[in-house]
Amino acid sequence: MSDLSSGLIIVSGPSGAGKDTIVGKLIELDSDFSLSVSATTRAPRGGEKDGVDYYFYTEDEFAQKIRNGEFVEYAKYGSKYYGTLKSDVKRRIDSGKTVILVIEVHGAENVKRLYPSALSVFIMPPSEAVLEQRLRRRCTDSDSEIARRMDIAKNEIKQSENYDYTVVNDELEKAVGDVYEIIKNHKCKTNVNKIG
Ligand code: 5GP
Repeated sequence: MSDLSSGLIIVSGPSGAGKDTIVGKLIELDSDFSLSVSATTRAPRGGEKDGVDYYFYTEDEFAQKIRNGEFVEYAKYGSKYYGTLKSDVKRRIDSGKTVILVIEVHGAENVKRLYPSALSVFIMPPSEAVLEQRLRRRCTDSDSEIARRMDIAKNEIKQSENYDYTVVNDELEKAVGDVYEIIKNHKCKTNVNKIG
């Protein structure tokens, strides 16, 4: 795969922490950023489009892609599979973009192992109560799915210490600004290291 050493940004955080909103704003702010589109076996939520929000695959299709070695990383989240496609990341890196991966903690750990100079940022909700409130307000998941996501969230929060940075998403605009600064500083440092 192309050299990913300075262009890969990992963003994780519990479902409902606001990471997709933050990353969406970053991409609006700076055309240097490009969001990797992942593959998943979960069903599309209202309005989600294949190839835009995710590549939606059946279990069999996903398993075939694992066997073909088509993933940078993949992980099971709840009962569904999610994975970062090499082809999608490569296309974006080759066009000179800084690629943002919005992935869960196990996938993040694998990417960091493969590409230690990738920058990792954990988006933290202000509290567990606020997180649950946000999940309920989305009206996209059943009570049992919300309960499952809350369980996963508690475990994910414990792993935030393995990330390079943690940003609390209390006020959206501030969180966006903080993540933007972190990425820009990282890019400056990596460029200086390359020159020096
Ligand atoms: P959701 O179903 O809410 O879209 O995503 C569930 C979780 O899977 C989120 O934490 C999301 O960041 C994560 N996720 C999305 N794409 C990938 C991926 O390609 N790899 C991994 N490991 N996690 C992913």
